[in-house]
Amino acid sequence: MQEFVGTCKTCGKQIFCREGFLDGVVLEDKSLICFACLEQSASIPD
Ligand SMILES: [Zn+2]
Repeated sequence: MQEFVGTCKTCGKQIFCREGFLDGVVLEDKSLICFACLEQSASIPD
């Protein structure tokens, strides 16, 4: 069972919640980002 949550704000990939496990991360501004984009953004120094 999976539930559509939203789309990645960076690449537009659809993000689902699978059995309580989210495909990505909800950011502080309530937008969503997938793990692939999260890793890329995490590698950029703040
Ligand atoms: Zn993405």
